[in-house]
Amino acid sequence: MLQIESLAKSFSGFQAVGDASLSVPRGQVVAVIGPNGAGKSTLFNLITGHIKPDAGRIVFKGREITALPPHQVSRLGVARSFQLVNIFPRLTVFENVQVAVLARLKQSGRLFTPARRLVVQETFEVLHKLGLKTSSDRICSSLSYGDQKVLEIAISLGSSPELLLLDEPTAGMSPEETRTIVQLIKQLSQREGLSILLTEHDMDLVFDVAQRIMVMHQGRTIAEGHPAEVRRDRAVQNAYLGETG
Ligand code: ADP
Ligand code: MG
Repeated sequence: MLQIESLAKSFSGFQAVGDASLSVPRGQVVAVIGPNGAGKSTLFNLITGHIKPDAGRIVFKGREITALPPHQVSRLGVARSFQLVNIFPRLTVFENVQVAVLARLKQSGRLFTPARRLVVQETFEVLHKLGLKTSSDRICSSLSYGDQKVLEIAISLGSSPELLLLDEPTAGMSPEETRTIVQLIKQLSQREGLSILLTEHDMDLVFDVAQRIMVMHQGRTIAEGHPAEVRRDRAVQNAYLGETG
């Protein structure tokens, strides 16, 4: 689904991403781990086209997308949930997701005048997948933090992506909210066949949901592979896992 080869990006002389390589097989959950400042979020910004790389290649579904602008990357099927910025707090859960569905249908050229029935149906499908159907009439500002994060993912799914990027999806969540997100990630990958690339600090979560793990340290990939291989890797233990116990 996604292949990243030797990606590099410097910010005025500081190398945030040095030599990052990674592959996301179709339908799998892949986790990027590494200490704060390792370059994980920068890597995501490079994939979505928000930042242009200095070197390296990004290939999505066999097509090179290196340095394409964000709206084109999104149109090809890569979605990313941004922290709360996409939520209209005074609209309902339903209305928020509907905005995303509508945007995609208009953009796809399938609808000049959006057919209300189709939009409503697709919006309910997304809400159903995420267990938000019973909250569909709630005003977003009244949702719990955990439900707002789930709504963010729902909004990303409104564009019907094939690859979903989640940057620290459980940050600031209670253990119960975290469990909900873990279930959701597994369900989206297993039942919907969505490919998911995520960053996460909670190692138990990472080893629970990810089929592949990439370890970043100072902008470089220091290991990539199956969770068991990564856990055994000496360099990883020294650079990262050892530090966090
Ligand atoms: P992570 O997500 O792994 O914590 P980031 O990708 O956010 O790491 O940051 C990697 C490094 O790049 C950090 O040292 C950060 O300060 C730096 N950095 C990120 N974005 C910028 C930017 N726009 N300008 C300058 N430095 C940046
Ligand atoms: Mg980050």
